[in-house]
Amino acid sequence: MKCYNAAKKIVQTLHNAGFTAYFNGGWVRDHLLGKDADDIDIATTATPEDMIDLFEKTIPVGINFSILIVVQDEVHCEVATFRKESDYVDGRRPEKVSHTTPEEDAKRRDFTINGMFFDPLTDTIYDYVGGQQDLKKGVIKAIGNPHQRFNEDRLRMIRACRYSARFSFPIEKETKAAIIAHAGELFPAVAIERVYDEFRKMTKDPHLFDALLLLHQFTLLDVIFKDLPLISYNKLEEKLKTPLHFPENTSPIVYLYELLEEISLSDKIALCKHFKVSKSEIRFTEELDKWKHSLDFSDYELVQLYAHENSDKCLKITSIHVKDSSFDRFHAEKKKLLKEHIRRLIEKRPLICSKDLLDRGMKAGRELGNTLKEAEKLAINKNLSTKQEVFQALSNSKDNK
Ligand code: ATP
Ligand code: MG
Repeated sequence: MKCYNAAKKIVQTLHNAGFTAYFNGGWVRDHLLGKDADDIDIATTATPEDMIDLFEKTIPVGINFSILIVVQDEVHCEVATFRKESDYVDGRRPEKVSHTTPEEDAKRRDFTINGMFFDPLTDTIYDYVGGQQDLKKGVIKAIGNPHQRFNEDRLRMIRACRYSARFSFPIEKETKAAIIAHAGELFPAVAIERVYDEFRKMTKDPHLFDALLLLHQFTLLDVIFKDLPLISYNKLEEKLKTPLHFPENTSPIVYLYELLEEISLSDKIALCKHFKVSKSEIRFTEELDKWKHSLDFSDYELVQLYAHENSDKCLKITSIHVKDSSFDRFHAEKKKLLKEHIRRLIEKRPLICSKDLLDRGMKAGRELGNTLKEAEKLAINKNLSTKQEVFQALSNSKDNK
């Protein structure tokens, strides 16, 4: 309600200054479906310059594209001038935008259900594109000529699948035919980051797998994963009969691995680079990969896994893959057994530290580093708990060499 009230205040301020302003896009759609979201976007006849004058706090997010964030009562609201986009070149986003009427602004939007406006001051819906009717019918329909709309921005083909899955609305016949006709033309028009962003949104939705199946059906997955070993539609369908319950905030890239036949870690890293994912997502991939072999790990190696910040997430995901309760039991027991060592590692408290070795006359350098590592390995693998025990174990292991 806080967002709604703040957004309404923004509309009121614009209205008092003589401008037209409405809520638009996803919020209106969700409102008509009885689900008021917290993310409210506003469209107005005011220009960004007008808004900078009118509101105390604004943040520009693309002045060329006429979008501003207005901060009202600590709520951030995106406010854009009604616009018409022109000069689409090769299915990319337009270079040029020009200000226009609400009706024209509605027509540049992707699907009819996304093209409506709502005036919170009078509780009126403005629908220039038949959005209400399609929402009632339950269809995803491109605004205007679908071929032309997908030619303008080919990402819309992926978005159609995402919305279709999310609302369980079929894609309208002509729109579907246009996706089939243009699926092969997704690249190079669309930047891979935008595709990944759509995947990111899909993974936040419980209907992710329906969206993936649709993308497969329309051959969009073949296009996106080009030379990679994509699993067949039937295999994907079979696999997704028991939806994956990956932990919250699992990186989308981890879901995408599910779409491929077993691939090596280096192929996964290549895929990460292809999708230009963040470094932390790459590191997560590397960490997750280790867990596949974790049943063969020494206690020392296990402690490294358990002390890692993503340990619980990796354990859960791997357990879903392994589908064997003995895997969970093994790790639960080991974690209990190695509790103290895990805590020491997290708190960076090795049983033997550099000072202990320097005090014993060892010189700083590589040998000291190796001895520290060896000491920690012995401490964990032999489950030792005092410095003395570790020094004893170190000298025994030297004697045995
Ligand atoms: P979501 O809940 O998934 O965010 P949304 O409808 O809010 O859904 P956004 O991607 O946030 O979707 O976009 C906001 C609105 O902007 C859409 O409802 C649509 O009207 C318009 N829009 C977004 N992307 C495009 C696009 N590629 N082509 C045309 N219109 C678009
Ligand atoms: Mg949105």
